[in-house]
Formats: sequence, structure tokens, C-alpha cells
Amino acid sequence: MKGRIENLRSELDTVDGDIVRLVAARLDLVGRIAREKASLPGDIRDPERERKVLERVETTARELGISAPLARKIFAEIIAHSVARQGATLGAGTGADPPREITVTFQGSPHTYGYLAGQKYVASLGLRARFVGVPTIFEAASELLSGAANLAFVPIENTMAGSFNQIYDLLREHELSIVGEETYKVDLSLAGIADVPLGSLQKILSHPLALEQCGQFIRALTGCRAVACVDTAEAMRAVAAGGDPTQAAIGSPEAAAACGLTILRRGIANQEENITRYVALARGPERFDQRITCKTSLILSTRHEQGALLRCLTILSDWGLSLTKLESRPRPNRPWEYMFFVDFEGNVTDPRVASALDDLRVAALYLKVLGSYPAKATPAEALAGGMSRPADLTTRVADANTAQPSSPVGDSAVAAAAAAAPPGADAASKPPAPARRSKQYKLADRASRQADTVVRVGDLLIGGDGFTVMAGPCSVESEAQIQATARHVREHGAHVLRGGVFKPRTSPYAFQGLGHQGLDLLAAAGKSVGIPIITEVMSPDQVRPVAEKADILQIGARNMQNFPLLNEVGKVDRPVLLKRGLSSTIEEWLAAAEYILAQGNGQVILCERGIRTFESATRNTLDLSAVVVLRERTHLPVVVDPSHGTGRRAYVASMAYAARACGAHGLLIEVHPDPDKALSDGDQSLTFPEFSGLMEGLRRLRL
Ligand code: PEP
Ligand code: MN
Repeated sequence: MKGRIENLRSELDTVDGDIVRLVAARLDLVGRIAREKASLPGDIRDPERERKVLERVETTARELGISAPLARKIFAEIIAHSVARQGATLGAGTGADPPREITVTFQGSPHTYGYLAGQKYVASLGLRARFVGVPTIFEAASELLSGAANLAFVPIENTMAGSFNQIYDLLREHELSIVGEETYKVDLSLAGIADVPLGSLQKILSHPLALEQCGQFIRALTGCRAVACVDTAEAMRAVAAGGDPTQAAIGSPEAAAACGLTILRRGIANQEENITRYVALARGPERFDQRITCKTSLILSTRHEQGALLRCLTILSDWGLSLTKLESRPRPNRPWEYMFFVDFEGNVTDPRVASALDDLRVAALYLKVLGSYPAKATPAEALAGGMSRPADLTTRVADANTAQPSSPVGDSAVAAAAAAAPPGADAASKPPAPARRSKQYKLADRASRQADTVVRVGDLLIGGDGFTVMAGPCSVESEAQIQATARHVREHGAHVLRGGVFKPRTSPYAFQGLGHQGLDLLAAAGKSVGIPIITEVMSPDQVRPVAEKADILQIGARNMQNFPLLNEVGKVDRPVLLKRGLSSTIEEWLAAAEYILAQGNGQVILCERGIRTFESATRNTLDLSAVVVLRERTHLPVVVDPSHGTGRRAYVASMAYAARACGAHGLLIEVHPDPDKALSDGDQSLTFPEFSGLMEGLRRLRL
């Protein structure tokens, strides 16, 4: 009897081995087909063929008397895996060979769902990977950012629990790109050290989310307590180590097997469809072949206008791109303001997507492209068991393949945008855009946006019909100095407190500013009088830490063409005041603003602060005609700094009135409690009474 079972089991092992070998042979064929397809145009997926394969498999199953749905399920998995492998064969498009073994960091330990899903993901790419588990997703992000890992594999949403907000915060805060996604069906199973009756259980261990998802099952077991653990695999290990048959753990069947536990019940979650979606994060974006069905993820902040979100979403639909997810998160330190996380079907290598992104950069105040990556989770895929997608999308992708490929955000995107008109756009309903003046800037160009851009800082609106006064010392020098100035300027109507803490001084021996300590003093002064603050950043590494505390970032005249700095301020969601360079033309200035806009930050304020001319009676020559020119050429707000513009306090008020008269949206004014003792720019700083006089004069101006 025993011998017979042994024999049958060994036959079974042989059959299992054969199944695996056949799957390997099938994958080999898939790989060969992919290499053939690589030289041909067209979509790598053929939904019609996939449907036929599944039908044939079901027919064979019926003929053999086995379950057709089971056969479909098995083959849906195999085909999904094959498609991902074909995509991987076409490559990331960067030309670089993928590393032979990559390091993947994830939250948790081996046999947690994150680990299992990560294994599925790397297997679908045909890569070998070393998995490094860490306690939190923040540590996973640090491993990635430090270069210790090639990928961080993290959960982003679950069909029962919704979105994992921490990931969205990570994506907002750091320079991370999404390069892939994976779905994993969570089969929450109960396991113990022996096959005991469920009624005898006293403690159930698991991760808090798993305990919550199995709440109905646990509550039905009277006298049984739920105990939280760091992750599901750890719960299994604890039960195995405890050796107590009244304890059980909830986790994956794989984790139970690895710990030698007995499964007491499978699928105990409140809902059957319990699927987690994971994303693979990398330090930079990857580019995928257009024949791979991709999704693109974005972060956007909308303008302070009615219907702003709707306008952004309409751009996607005008370009024929379907939205797959929209999630909102609070903007940090901005109560009741939100940023939106958007996923849509499309690939940045597709000229239409590039054009849609250009339109979005104009429509939104801030846009960050998180990446384009092969799509694995779409509602259509879920319904068809990981198989098909809507027919209209197939057509669109095929159409797009015949269009000229182009780089998504480079100059060639301009040509591509001109060539491709939004298919859904109704040209007759839109006002005709004026001809573009310059190839150097298109997002800053008035032609791309008729209405003035209004930059919002809390309740304060800069641009449009408003007139904003930013005032304070050239440099923050002490707590007493900045507090006194803050109180005075606030009392007389200033809207923003200025103060330099990183100072661009001509001589290295001059006062260089109080740095981060000065920023804290400035932030405290702004808070104590209840107005936002503006301060200058001089290098890319200052941008993120300063953006945490300052409401507006200033780029000084000497840095107007510091391109790495412009790119960095373009990546954060903070308004930027861009001063005109000492000897820069208006064209160069707008092209510099374009760097910031092209990175996705549309919250740019231009500041005329005087230019170098042969004239030496004033420190600089304040070019007020620039205001008039800019109001015509760009939709961005323009403010004037008559302090640096003239260099002499006696001239400041007159030029401030003139700035107001010629259409500026505001002023930047240096004020000091005792200008003669100022550590920088005392000659041009107003005294307190002079500043109150100026504000009074501005109120009396009848324009
Ligand atoms: C300043 O605002 O203090 C400053 C240094 O200005 P600019 O860059 O215009 O010289
Ligand atoms: Mn100054």
C-alpha cells in the first residue's frame, strides 16, 4: 500500500517536472517570437491571438474532462508572464544591457506578499535579483537613493484597503521614478503548528492590515485575540517558534510552508478579490518601446482657478489618453490644498503623450512626471484574467506607432506637438493661439496661455489683477532685526517678508549670510506676523531643504542662467521668483524661466532688478520697459525690485510708483531698521518711515 503511494508520488513528481519544462520551452518560443517582432512595427500584444489561445486551451480542457476555468486561469498567468518577457526583450530602450543580477529592496522579510510579488516582477523581466528586506518603505527608498539597490519594490494600493499614502508622499519628496508595476493576488491564509479545530485558537498573529482584512473571520472566533506583528512572514515565524497549538498566523501559504506550518484555512479575507498593486521604483526614468502597452504616472498641482482639475483631465481626454487612476493628497503645509496623482494609459515616448504633457505643464501649476512603465493593472485586464484591453486603445496605440517617434520632453517634442493635433480637440471652440515668437520658450510664451498666471501662496495671489509687495532686509542679520522688520512691514501692508540667508556677494570677504540658522529666524518672523517668506537659493543642494521652510524661492541675478539650479527649483512644488541676470536680454530671461516650467513647476514670478549699462549714476539701470514687453510676451507675473535697480534709497519710491504705473504685479523692496549699519546693501535699503511712506504713496496712486 505504502509502496504504491510512493510510486504514484514519484510519477507525480515527474509530471510536475515535465509541466515546468514545458513552461520553460514555451517561454523560449515566446522569446524567439519577441526577437522576430523587434524588427517589425506594430504592437507586441495581439489580443485577438491571446483570446484564441485561451479558447483553444479551454476546449482542450473540456475534451480532457478538466475544469475549463482552471485551464484559463493557469494560461492567463502564463500569457501575462510571456507578454512581460516579450516587453523585456524589446528592452527599456536606453540601449544599456540590464545588469545580470540586480538588487531589489522591499519592506518586510522573505515570504511576505511584497517579496512574493517582487519575485513575480523580476521573473517577468527575466532578471535575477537579490532581495533585501528592510523594516519600512522609507528605508527601502533610502537604500535605493544611496545606490545600495537598483530597485525599490513597494505596495501602492490594495483593492480592499485603497491607496498606501506613504508611497505618494515618498514620490513627492524624492527624485524617484516608477519603472514598473506588478499585481499580486493576496490569499490570506490561516496557519498553525498543528491541524487543530478553529474553535481552540486563542491568538491570531499578523500584520495589522491583514488582521483588518480578515476582521469578519477573526470576530467569528469567540475568545480569540488578534495580535499585530511587523509583517505576515514574521507572524508565521513567531507561531512556528512558539510551538503553541492555540496560536495561528495569517499570511501567505508560501510563508506557512517555509515555516513548516499547517494551513488551517485558505482565503479568509472579508472579500475574495484581494489584489495588491506594487510599483518598482528606480533613481531615474526608463524608456520603453512604444509597442509595449504603458501607463504614465504624474503628480500635479492645479491652478487657483475654477474648474482647474477638470481642465487638466480634459487635456488627457482631448489627446485620447484614458485615465486609470486619480488620487488626491494634501499639499504639505498648505491646509485644504491638494495635489493630484494621476495614472493614464500612455507612454512618454509617444509624441501624443509628449504633447499632452506640454499642454498639462501650461494648464497646471506644477507637474512631475513619475515615469512610463509597462501596464499590468488595468480594469480590463482584471476582468479578462490579465488578458485583453479595450479595442479603441489598441487602435490608438497602432496609430501612434505610425507617428514619428521623438524624445518626450526635448526640443523635438515641439516639432512633434506641432505635427500632432489633439484628436479629440474641437478646434472651433478654442480661441486661435497667436503665432509663437520664440523656439527658446514655449511654455512661458503668452501664445501658450492667454490668461495671466496667478501664483498662489496660501491665501495670497500673485499676478493677475493683484499687486503684491514683498519687503524686508537684504540679509537676515539677527533675530531682533528680522522680527522688528517683519512687524513693521506687515503693519504697513507688505504681503511677503523677504530676507537673504545665502548671500551672493561680490567679494568672498563680505558677509555671506546666516545660512540655515538665518532661515529659521526668517521663518519664525514670518510666522509671528502671519505672512509668507521669500529667500534666495544659490545651489541645487539648498533647494529641497530651503523649500521645506520658505514659501517662495528666489533665484538671484547672478544665477539666472545657473541651469542645474533652475532644473532643481523646477522639480519642487514651490513658487520661484526669477531675477533678471545682470546683462541678460528678455529672451534669455524667458528661456531661463522655461527651464523651470519645462521641469514641471509653473509657479514662476519674474523680477526686473536693473541691468548693467554704461550709466554709473545708479547701481544698475532699472529697465521698466521690460515690464511692458513681458506683459505682452508672457503670462507669468512680473515684479520690480527698485532697490537693486537703483542702488540708492532716495530713488526707490519713485521707481516703485513707476513700476506700478507700467503694469508690474508687485514690488520687492529692501527695508532695514538701521540701514547705515546693515551688513549688506544698506545704501539702497529703506528706513521704516520711508517704507511706511512708500506704502502710503502706493495707496494714494490713482491708476
Ligand atoms: C537680493 O535680492 O538681495 C539680491 C542679491 O538680488 P540680486 O540677485 O538682484 O542682486
Ligand atoms: Mn540685496
